[in-house]
Amino acid sequence: MNMIANHPPTSELQALDAAHHMHPFTHNNELEQKGARIITRAKGVTLTDSDGNDYLDAMAGLWCVNVGYGREEMAEAAARQMRELPYYNTFFQTTHVPAIALSAKLAELAPGDLNHVFFAGSGSEANDTNIRMVRTYWAQKGKPEKTVIISRKNAYHGSSMGSGSLGGMSYMHEQGGLPIADICHIDQPHWWAEGGDMSPEEFGLERARQLEKKIEELGEHRVAAFIAEPIQGAGGVVIPPSTYWPEIQRICDAHDILLIADEVICGFGRTGTWFGCNRMGIRPHIMTVAKGLSSGYAPIGGSIVCDEVANVINNCEFAHGYTYSGHPMTCAVALENLRILEEEGIVDRVADHSAAYLAEKWGGLADHPLVGEATTIGMMGSIVLTPDASSRAVFAGTEGDAGLITREHCFRNGLVMRHVGDRMIISPPLVITDSEMDTLVERAWKALDLAHRQLEDEGKMKAA
Ligand SMILES: *Cc1c(COP(=O)(O)O)cnc(C)c1O
Repeated sequence: MNMIANHPPTSELQALDAAHHMHPFTHNNELEQKGARIITRAKGVTLTDSDGNDYLDAMAGLWCVNVGYGREEMAEAAARQMRELPYYNTFFQTTHVPAIALSAKLAELAPGDLNHVFFAGSGSEANDTNIRMVRTYWAQKGKPEKTVIISRKNAYHGSSMGSGSLGGMSYMHEQGGLPIADICHIDQPHWWAEGGDMSPEEFGLERARQLEKKIEELGEHRVAAFIAEPIQGAGGVVIPPSTYWPEIQRICDAHDILLIADEVICGFGRTGTWFGCNRMGIRPHIMTVAKGLSSGYAPIGGSIVCDEVANVINNCEFAHGYTYSGHPMTCAVALENLRILEEEGIVDRVADHSAAYLAEKWGGLADHPLVGEATTIGMMGSIVLTPDASSRAVFAGTEGDAGLITREHCFRNGLVMRHVGDRMIISPPLVITDSEMDTLVERAWKALDLAHRQLEDEGKMKAA
């Protein structure tokens, strides 16, 4: 029997799932009690589960399905490439047309002299590449002691040993002996949660200057690079104050260190420009890409590298690479995705229309009594749940309780919205229409109403 085409009932699938499938970032025994939600189909911005329920996917999967679900052209591109050349590697003096075409296309789209691509299978792998690449770069330049990479608390850069170490999620570091050596973290530019009495502008400068302090503390001769997401995604869609990035750029320019922009979420139109760097005015030496590169249709990531770094790395044998670096099918799918983004004018439409529409509609959620602020940038947004917006208060109970309750009401009302602690976040497919955005916000408002009532009934609308 073909279990995928003609699947057994939901309860049977859930039992098999619980028995054999270990889910990422999941307490699997708790999930076993509840039963996993089984997604069977998707089209546009809509998911369908094994019981026939529809959901508006306000997360574009995991921030990746930028062109929306159900694109025939993408399936065709994959099938065509798998028939022609399903696999060959790019080690040992060989290459193939999809890897050549995609690296040339990325060099054209990327800003400045970011003209060279090292492929990986995911964002985590690409960031692991970056750790080895920047350290190798400095060693090649005769400065082998420049090994420290500065990152930020509450950053997300992936889940492997290296990328998980770059990330600033302490609950991840607690498992498996992270971080690896010579990675350190400064505070994040999260004004709502940590800004205290400072204005956002003052706070942005203060947080950026922590980078300069850290470089001085360690000694510039020890620091290889600074890595950051232009806008933190998994940390809760944290939009930095306007003063933050210009000051970070000044500090990177003033010191002899490399800047790595992790564009895994911000890249490929998410902020209304091709990359978050364009939007935030950043000039990185390396950009990490994945997710929206293929709209999630195939697993691919990579590092887009500037001339200077590539020239130095290319002067030695960089003993690094993955069996699937530049996998032909994933490259063909990514190329087709870029063609769709370009030819359908999807990035321009975000910039010229959809971002403003979303900002207006989503911004209206700030009037809800459970909401502290509702912000967007491009096609991502967040709302802060709070018992008292005027004092930016946090809830008295367990952090994330209100967020989880709200997320469950979203699911029950046909909306996939994620929670990070007590922040609700969205990152819908870029092709979402105006009426779909209306539906998204209507369902979010309804879920907030239900969550608010539940929190009041349970006596949880109290400030800490
Ligand atoms: C998701 C993500 C990663 C990791 O990508 P994977 O493909 O899951 O390994 C890295 N950086 C950022 C900013 C991400 O959002």
